[in-house]
Amino acid sequence: MLKDSNYSSNATLLTDDDIGDDHLMTSLETPMRADAFELSAEEKMTRIEHHFREIMLTMGLDLSDDSLKGTPKRVAKMYIQEIFSGLNPKNKPKVALFDNKYGYNEMLVEKDITFYSNCEHHFVPIIGKAHIAYIAKDKVIGLSKLNRVVQYFAKRPQVQERLTMQVAHHLCSILGTDDIAIIVDAHHLCVSSRGVQDVNSSTITAYYGGVFLKEAKKHEFLQYLNLPAKSKVLEVLQS
Ligand SMILES: [Zn+2]
Repeated sequence: MLKDSNYSSNATLLTDDDIGDDHLMTSLETPMRADAFELSAEEKMTRIEHHFREIMLTMGLDLSDDSLKGTPKRVAKMYIQEIFSGLNPKNKPKVALFDNKYGYNEMLVEKDITFYSNCEHHFVPIIGKAHIAYIAKDKVIGLSKLNRVVQYFAKRPQVQERLTMQVAHHLCSILGTDDIAIIVDAHHLCVSSRGVQDVNSSTITAYYGGVFLKEAKKHEFLQYLNLPAKSKVLEVLQS
């Protein structure tokens, strides 16, 4: 299990640029202010629209241009209602669980769950696939809910390690089992479109809990995935 303190103690030795380009995270919880939800969604959109207009004006853009004038409002709406909607716990997917009537006790693998997130260091996209395995105890989860849980946590400014852990912890708590494994394979546009400009690399993170800590179960999971040597995400981006 990752410990918060390991990250924060190391992170204090680094500059802001180091933290951004090395994609370090400082805690497993998304860092939120105590007053995060005192403003309504409408109030947040009004503020973001104002500030995004200032950013565009500062860069010298002419906001009287028909193409640009609606952009601050569009960005504000997109931030709150779409790509960062996972910051608000009210948007957490409602997960119905069902009794495991079949007594199915082998692993269930849901693979190639597509998600779009954004790097919290640069606010540019992370595009990836998540693969989840779990072994049901008394309850099973609707399959589409695994996708929704991934997408909820992806819709935050993120770091891939934290996304992986947040999905894992949430699934452990709702399914009442530690027998969960997750692989996340993602392409970070802050690595490809700027900075080191490497279009070929993808980042893989993993979580193994319960029986998946045993090599045999881990191996079985990876075999089900039949992970390709080349990231499918990358093939899409390069086609
Ligand atoms: Zn980044």
